[in-house]
Amino acid sequence: MNDESSLSEDQQQSWRDKAEQLQRALNSRVVIEQAKGMLRERFGLDTRGAFELMRSAARGHGMNLHLLAGVVTSSFETPKQIVWALARQPEMFTSMSRDDRVLQTEEFFRQLNDVMAEQQANNGAAFFCECGNPYCNVKVKLSREDLMTLHSQGGFSAMLPGHQIPELETVVLEHDGYVITAANGTSH
Ligand SMILES: [Zn+2]
Repeated sequence: MNDESSLSEDQQQSWRDKAEQLQRALNSRVVIEQAKGMLRERFGLDTRGAFELMRSAARGHGMNLHLLAGVVTSSFETPKQIVWALARQPEMFTSMSRDDRVLQTEEFFRQLNDVMAEQQANNGAAFFCECGNPYCNVKVKLSREDLMTLHSQGGFSAMLPGHQIPELETVVLEHDGYVITAANGTSH
């Protein structure tokens, strides 16, 4: 009577396998789309840019694109592979979105600068302003050594004078061309 009874065990199994394969393919497409959306929003990239970023991050680390997309979607933090890919091509993002995630933005810029310092990608002369404005893409001039020393303390950022947000951070040192800030509430 029912359709299954007319299929052999092997045929049934084969159908189930095909259905599973299809479902997996669909799922990974969904995850990649989700990851693209998240990166697009986080870094103000267009869809193509977000995909290129993931592809270059995956390729650079011999990582499966689906796997990387899974990592992107499973955390609010930006996976190291993505940070590294961005550090190699800092010109990729000229504008970032989301002005409401100031501290996360600052943390991201610190992370990015650390990687740039490690890779000496820019001769160690200029790093991204570590202010909380996601649209800020100016560079601050400080040496690689100074940046690494600053970050080794934890809780400090280097940014252009005037880029600090008084409700969130306090200038603790004025330097030539940049200021060092500490996040309010973390420096005691
Ligand atoms: Zn700035």
